[in-house]
Amino acid sequence: MTLRRARRYVRVRRAVLAASVLTVVGTPFLAARFADRSWPSGVFVGATGAARALGVELLDPLLTAGVALSGGARRGLLVAALPVLLLVVVLGRFFCGWLCPYLPLLAVSNAVRWALARLGIPTLDLRLPGWIRFAVLGVVLGGTGALGVQLATLVYPPALLARTAYRLAFGLGLGGAAVVVAVVWLFDTTVSRAGFCRSLCPGGALFSLLGARSPVGVRRVASRCTDCTVCDVVCNLGQGPMTDRVDAGCERCGRCVAACPTGALSLSFEGRRR
Ligand code: SF4
Ligand code: SF4
Repeated sequence: MTLRRARRYVRVRRAVLAASVLTVVGTPFLAARFADRSWPSGVFVGATGAARALGVELLDPLLTAGVALSGGARRGLLVAALPVLLLVVVLGRFFCGWLCPYLPLLAVSNAVRWALARLGIPTLDLRLPGWIRFAVLGVVLGGTGALGVQLATLVYPPALLARTAYRLAFGLGLGGAAVVVAVVWLFDTTVSRAGFCRSLCPGGALFSLLGARSPVGVRRVASRCTDCTVCDVVCNLGQGPMTDRVDAGCERCGRCVAACPTGALSLSFEGRRR
C-alpha cells in the first residue's frame, strides 16, 4: 500500500470518527435546543451505539445483547442490530478505531503520557493478560442475564459518554457516568496505555470475538520491512505488525500502515494483492 493511500485511509477514518463524536456530543444539545419546537426525530435520534437514522435503527452488538439478556427483547431487535453486526463480522473490531467516541479522550491520554515522559515523570504501562477482557464481558453479560439489568451501560464508554452528553445538554450536571469515564481515562494515562480498550472494555472484547474471522487485516511484505519497530510503537492496542502478530484485537485504524516508512504494511482483504 502506498503511503498516500494509507494516509488517505487514516483521513477518512478520522472524518468518520469526527461524525460519530458529533452525534454523541451534538445530538443532545440540538435536541435540547429544539425541545419546544420540532426536532426532526424522523431524520436522526440517538448517538453512536444506539440510533435511528432515516427510520433505520442501528444498535451496537453489546447493547443489543444487554437488551436481550435483561428481558427487554422486542420484535425487530435483531434487525436493528444486524447492520452493525454484519460490519463487525466482515471488518472485525473496526468500531473501536472508526466510531468509538472515547478515542479523542484516548488521544489526549496518550499525549499526556508523552508529555509526562518528556518531563521525566514516569508512568506505568501495565499489560494485563488478554483473557481478562473476555472475563469482563462474561461477567457483564452473565450479570445482565442474572439480574435483569443492563450492566454494559455502567462500564461501556460509548454509553457512558452519550449519557454524560445528554445530562450536560439538559442541565443535569455531570453525573456518575462522567466519574466512570474519568477513572477509565486516569487508568489509561497513569497505569496502562490504552489499557481499558486493550484489556477491560466489554465492547472491545465482544467485537474481537464477533470479528475473529474477519477477512480484513494488516499484512506485511517481509522483504520491505526494516524492523524499525515504528508500527509496533504507534499501535494503541498492543498488536505486533512488525512480527505479523496481529490478532482479532486489531481495530483496523491504519495507524501502523500510515506510519511505516517503507510501505511494507497494508490493510487488505485476505489473499488480495498488496
Ligand atoms: S475498547 Fe471500548 S472504549 Fe475502547 S475503543 Fe473499543 S468500544 Fe471504545
Ligand atoms: S495493528 Fe495497526 S491497524 Fe491494527 S490496531 Fe494496531 S495500529 Fe491499528
